[in-house]
Amino acid sequence: MKIAIISDIHGNLEALNAVLKKIEEEKPDKIVCLGDIVGYGANPNECCDIVKKLTDKIVMGNHDSAVCMKTPLDWFNPNARTAIEWTMKKLTPDNFDFLSKLPLTLKYENLLFVHASPNSPEEWKYILNAYDAYYELQVIKENVCFIGHSHVPVTFMLDENLDIFMIDREEFFIEGGKKYLINVGSVGQPRDFDPRASFGIYDTDKKHFRIIRVDYDIRLAQRKIIEADLPVILAERLLYGR
Ligand code: ZN
Repeated sequence: MKIAIISDIHGNLEALNAVLKKIEEEKPDKIVCLGDIVGYGANPNECCDIVKKLTDKIVMGNHDSAVCMKTPLDWFNPNARTAIEWTMKKLTPDNFDFLSKLPLTLKYENLLFVHASPNSPEEWKYILNAYDAYYELQVIKENVCFIGHSHVPVTFMLDENLDIFMIDREEFFIEGGKKYLINVGSVGQPRDFDPRASFGIYDTDKKHFRIIRVDYDIRLAQRKIIEADLPVILAERLLYGR
């Protein structure tokens, strides 16, 4: 089975459409969304409407949670908070309802899916380095867990001797006896200094994972953010991928 994993769309319709076009070429059997469908970008409702139709395998992100008043706004930096408050005003009742009912974790095909950290998903911890990943990987039962949240595509692997390794290759095979925490990067606001939209494809038969990067109309996404009166920095950062 081939699974496409998308995360952190953040209301960026241009990036989402470009990624979906690429996913169509890949012909996956299933699409999983790791949350943060909204926040930062100018098209939260359009992105919710697309994702709803795309898949029933979706977990909640911290921005989704905040717009539904399930995570306090003071957990966010001022620009993120401004965007969340803007999104709250724009969101339709249907999409509010949709986001507020999303689960924090999902198990599917012996794989674990969560937005932030598998062991305490509601705390929205960032897994940025091997140290952060070490504890998480020891506690999870599944061999492979897919995450988003940091917007940086990177994998941490725990081997049989409990040694941890960082994998920054764009593709690799999952080996038996090892555990993997795989960040698929962000569709709508990449932060690894590569502005192209990021998503992952996992083939469960071949045990092969791959990151795919896609160009999209960044200028249009930026213009919409500025016209919506969202913080200008949210438009600027898209061009630099940070
Ligand atoms: Zn995010």
